[in-house]
Formats: sequence, C-alpha cells, structure tokens
Amino acid sequence: MCTECDFRTELFKRRILVDTGIDGLPARSGMFESVITGFDNLITSFGGGDHPEVMRFPPAMNRARFEKSGYMKSFPQLAGTIHAFNGTDKGHATLLDKLMGGEDWTDQQEATDVVLAPAACYPLYPTVAELGPLPDEGRLYDLQSYCFRREPSKDPARMQMFRMREYVRIGTPDQVTDFRQTWLDRGRELMSKLAVPFDVDVANDPFFGRAGRMLANNQRDQRLKFELLVPIESTEKPTACLSFNYHQDHFGTLWGIRTAKDEVAHTACVGFGMERVALALFKHHGFDTREWPAPVRKALWG
Ligand code: AMP
Ligand code: ZN
Repeated sequence: MCTECDFRTELFKRRILVDTGIDGLPARSGMFESVITGFDNLITSFGGGDHPEVMRFPPAMNRARFEKSGYMKSFPQLAGTIHAFNGTDKGHATLLDKLMGGEDWTDQQEATDVVLAPAACYPLYPTVAELGPLPDEGRLYDLQSYCFRREPSKDPARMQMFRMREYVRIGTPDQVTDFRQTWLDRGRELMSKLAVPFDVDVANDPFFGRAGRMLANNQRDQRLKFELLVPIESTEKPTACLSFNYHQDHFGTLWGIRTAKDEVAHTACVGFGMERVALALFKHHGFDTREWPAPVRKALWG
C-alpha cells in the first residue's frame, strides 16, 4: 500500500495514468485498462445472471432530454455542454483572428443539440418510456458509459471524464427496492473479493446552492442514496466507489413510464465508478498488478 508516497505523483511517474495537462483528464495505460476490464467482468459475473438488457449509450446525449431531466436545476456546476462553429467564411476569419490574437474565440461557437452525459442512466429513461407500459416483471438494464462532470481536482479519484457501469431497475416500488437491497449485498460481496477496506453509508448528491442543501438533507433523511466507500486519497474522507440510488417515482413521472398496472414506475440504479475501483486496487495492492494477491487476481482475471 502506498502510504508515505504521494499516490497521484506515483501513478504519473509509473505511467499507470498519463498526465495530459488537465486535472481529472489523464490517459489510461494498458495495465490500468486491464484492471478496468477485469472489474467489468467481475460485475457481470454478479449481475449477468439476472439477464439485463445490455445498452451502450455514447458519452454525449440529446440536449432537449438533458434539459427535461432537471439536471441544470440540481447540478449546474457539473454539466458539460458541446458547442461548435456553425458560421460563414466571415465568422471563420473572426474566429481565427481571435485565436491567433490569444483572445477568447469560443464566442464564435454555438450550443449544439448534444451535451455530455453526466451519468450512464440519464439517456436511458426516455428510451424506456417510448416502449410503452412495462411488462409485469418490469425492466432491467446493463449500461456503461464515459460520463463528464466538471469537477477538476488533484485527487486522482476525482476525474472530469470517467466510466460508470450501471444496472438500472424500472418497475413497481417493491421490485425496485428489492433490487437495491440485492445490490447493497452483492456490492459488499464483490468488493470483499477485491480485498480492499470499505464501508457502506447513507449519502447525498452534491446538489447546488442553498436550495440544494435542503434536497441533500431530504435525500439523506429518506435514505435514498447509499455509497460504498474506500479510502483512496485520504483515510479521513474515503471515496465513493459504488452508489446505490432509489429515485422513487422521479424519472417515472418525468418521462411518463407506467407499470403494467398503469401506475407510475419507480426506478433505482447501482453505479460502479470503474476508475475509482481500479485506483482503490492500485492503492491497496501496489503499483504492479502482477504482484497483487492471487485471490484478487483470480477475481479480476480468472
Ligand atoms: P453518482 O451518480 O455520483 O452516485 O456516481 C456514480 C459513481 O460514479 C460513484 O459511485 C463513483 O464511483 C463514480 N464517480 C462519480 N464522480 C466521479 C468522478 N468525478 N471521478 C471518478 N468517478 C466518479
Ligand atoms: Zn443511475
């Protein structure tokens, strides 16, 4: 375990991650990616037997759907939008002049109809609503996507773009709360196989501003979010590596998803922070995966 050394410096020095000059935007080495692949497979070994529908959304999503999702109400500080140049030759000349002159040239761009996905499950709900009422057994999805959150940090476990694997359950309140309980148990079992220290605790999302504090308190009081935390950058403030979220009828109401009995559907998701789990493994088992404990290697790579 890396205690006396600076974990981030060591990751870069050994080129497990490669600095690109922007905090939270490193390149990943082959060794790092092999851990991500191993963990991805481990997740599937726990969740694949439930036969989820696998979907892979691109890391950008429909802006109109993003706007409707209410993300800007809750997390305006984290959102990333995509802008592009859509002008004429004259506009192009202005853009280049500004660029050459070291001025801000980005005012020559306009917002496009796509934004960066803030979580793997955001693009899913409207596509489920389009299918009509849920079958009796509800629906279950397996997602993975690169996600963007504008939270630059020196903490290697706080990235601006990172991969989130998710299982998402859509159905009756009972189906959905059973799912979350199952994953709270599985999450513990899964992380035990990786032999890293962890704790599970009630949590809240980083809702913005004064109104956000109330939302965060409410989320905690109702125990809607749990996190599985592993000490990575600091032992006092362990890092959330897995999240277990119960959205109640929020997305069901928003997108008009109905159950087979024509009630508003409830939703829950379990999210795995792929890079964070990989970093937790490097932190606790060292910088060379070949020297990791045999049971951990077996859990990841068979
Ligand atoms: P959340 O939607 O905030 O519960 O995020 C789901 C999972 O994504 C978390 O449990 C983390 O493991 C991971 N995650 C969230 N934010 C970041 C970040 N900035 N960098 C890396 N992983 C993150
Ligand atoms: Zn989700």
